Amino acid sequence: MKIIMLGAPGAGKGTQAKMIAEKYSIPHISTGDIFRANIKNGTELGMEAKKYMDAGQLVPDELTVKILLDRVAADDCKNGYVLDGFPRTIPQAEVLENALNELGDKIDYAIDVDVPDENIINRMSGRRACVTCGATYHVVHIPPKTEGVCDKCGSELILRDDDKPETVKNRLDVYHKQTQPLIDFYNKREILKEVDGTVDSSEVFKAIVAILG
Ligand code: ADP
Ligand code: ADP
Ligand code: ZN
Repeated sequence: MKIIMLGAPGAGKGTQAKMIAEKYSIPHISTGDIFRANIKNGTELGMEAKKYMDAGQLVPDELTVKILLDRVAADDCKNGYVLDGFPRTIPQAEVLENALNELGDKIDYAIDVDVPDENIINRMSGRRACVTCGATYHVVHIPPKTEGVCDKCGSELILRDDDKPETVKNRLDVYHKQTQPLIDFYNKREILKEVDGTVDSSEVFKAIVAILG
């Protein structure tokens, strides 16, 4: 099963993608996580990506597409995957579609997690991310057992630089201009599914499981 998660920054794509990955035993692939791992390790890709991420802009397609295509070609992706944060532009979606076409393959579902802009700033300012394993929490909605400490690995939780309100506004603009057109793109291919992302995360997950079976 090959799944794409669509939705604004902070809509809950990552939260849901992790649950999907676990239930259906497929890898969760987040381009944001891949970039952050590269930044942490000081790679050239990381240093280049950071410039765009800090400004709330998209990393250029040339850089993004290559790392994603390499990742989905790995052995553990044979039975499918859930993509979180890719594609984010029409050209990215086209490259993925063509690459899969060549293998006689396709995406099965594009799930749009719908959350209005008004809710997003609150979601992002309350998001806390683990510096080590990438797990995410929310100070009010999905708190860790101990404040500031990751449940899964015990590392420190931080507010991402790009989750500060000024940057979030840029990211929302970028989302509406460059990423939202993908909803129409996948609707035309008859694989678009919409879920209400404003309800409790366990309720969102139930709606997704009802779609995936
Ligand atoms: P969020 O969890 O808010 O959706 P991500 O962790 O997915 O954010 O992405 C963080 C940043 O990484 C984005 O704002 C963007 O700069 C960069 N990024 C991630 N995925 C892509 C992509 N597919 N294309 C371009 N840039 C990306
Ligand atoms: P995305 O990957 O789309 O950027 P995340 O999954 O990281 O979004 O979620 C953004 C923030 O909102 C996180 O702090 C997360 O814990 C929280 N969150 C996720 N789903 C819900 C929900 N259904 N209700 C309230 N908060 C949520
Ligand atoms: Zn952790």
